Amino acid sequence: MTDSALPILRLSNIWQKFGGLVANAEVTLDVKRGEILGLIGPNGAGKSTLFNLIAGATSPVEGRIVFDGQDVTRLDAPRRCALGIGRTFQVPRSFDSMSVLDNVVVGAFTRHARARAARAAALDALAFTGLEHRAAVSAGELTPPERRRLEVARALVTEPRLLLLDEVMTGLTPSEARLGVELIRRIRDRGITVIMVEHVMEIVMPLVDRAVVLNLGRILSQGTPGEVVRDPAVIAAYLGDSHRAA
Ligand code: ADP
Ligand code: MG
Repeated sequence: MTDSALPILRLSNIWQKFGGLVANAEVTLDVKRGEILGLIGPNGAGKSTLFNLIAGATSPVEGRIVFDGQDVTRLDAPRRCALGIGRTFQVPRSFDSMSVLDNVVVGAFTRHARARAARAAALDALAFTGLEHRAAVSAGELTPPERRRLEVARALVTEPRLLLLDEVMTGLTPSEARLGVELIRRIRDRGITVIMVEHVMEIVMPLVDRAVVLNLGRILSQGTPGEVVRDPAVIAAYLGDSHRAA
């Protein structure tokens, strides 16, 4: 039985290095069950690196990752996916010659042994993300915003309890972004905890329950969106004078 007061994810003193480059340092963070957490910070701050560590694409050089009370630090990505950690990639990774539906079916086989059940689950995920009408076209024909939706559908069909969204709203028009915001709210309403990386403050801040700012691989600030945007350290490092004035 899971204790609902227990954080769904606990990162303790996470370090990641690439040669001499320190991409994550001393990252200690609890993610609460059911929240939408915004992970923000300038390019190169270490956000995608942290997602890779949480999802199990890579292992940290130091530190501990506990998911739902279980130490997953040394588990590989497929095993973490089976436990309920889902993710999208900043650069969409679709099989372009396969249909949109089959791209999602591939993910559905993580939960369903039979083709018919996998297909039904994939169709559900496409309907949920508003891509049902594109199921039969090849993934290579999708527009960039549709590709990001496909990423989300493929992650959702793995039935995550924690979903990592890496810049799924980058490059969207304001009306597409509104649909994206609405989609993320519906994902949370399904009981899925969301950590999202997003650059556009106007999108992130109204949507998230809490924000964490990474800078040079370290947590610079965390709190409610209001607390974070007023934090002098954040203003100095990231937001700049235009936001202070606002
Ligand atoms: P963000 O997602 O916040 O923009 P990243 O996590 O992608 O930042 O990158 C953090 C830093 O680590 C950057 O300086 C980047 O160049 C470096 N980095 C990321 N992945 C690798 C890798 N596989 N090999 C070497 N350096 C990397
Ligand atoms: Mg990134």
